[in-house]
Amino acid sequence: MEKEKGLLIVLSGPAGVGKGTVCSALRKHDTNIQYSVSATTRAPRKGEVDGVNYFFKSREQFEAMIEKEELLEWAEYVGNYYGTPIQYVRDTIDSGKDIILEIEVQGALKVRERFPEGVFIFLMPPSLAELRSRIVGRGTETEEVINKRMNVAKEEIEMMKKYDYVVENDEVELAVERIKAIVIAEHCKRERLIEKYHQLVEVE
Ligand code: 5GP
Repeated sequence: MEKEKGLLIVLSGPAGVGKGTVCSALRKHDTNIQYSVSATTRAPRKGEVDGVNYFFKSREQFEAMIEKEELLEWAEYVGNYYGTPIQYVRDTIDSGKDIILEIEVQGALKVRERFPEGVFIFLMPPSLAELRSRIVGRGTETEEVINKRMNVAKEEIEMMKKYDYVVENDEVELAVERIKAIVIAEHCKRERLIEKYHQLVEVE
């Protein structure tokens, strides 16, 4: 019998909504979920470690990864490249483990084209004012970057329509509970289990 594959879960939403925080909180809850480390050309922020938060690359290195088709998806976002290395994603789901990609909206839509069976979750800010204060509160961006990010965020919220699930990030722990519930429900989907129970249930 074919081994059950892990879920490819995409957690997306506007920058500053708290995707990173929600993802790391989720990792503490459920050890079967792996976290995909993206490649980027953006400079590391204070405290970020190469290979842990991101694989930090030059533009030339990143473009070589695109050329060699090493990325599942990539996007240019506020002047930098971001992309998901494909090999780790494939290995993880083939080994039966779930993987989460924390990526922005354009990339998420590209993943949907290649992996329509993925689980697409949109993390929603409680309000635009709250989103702005979170971006400002991080204190790492200039006013110009903040305004650019707010404009991108408004367009991104429109994309909510293209997702399977919408999770409000009013409180991190509540958002985590909602995502865990989605993951459990997805594992119970008939389409995913029919193969496993084929000896007991006749497939039409
Ligand atoms: P930041 O610079 O704040 O770490 O990330 C900026 C945006 O890029 C965030 O919305 C983040 O989710 C997104 N991002 C991070 N990694 C990837 C990736 O591999 N692909 C895509 N498309 N977006 C990413």
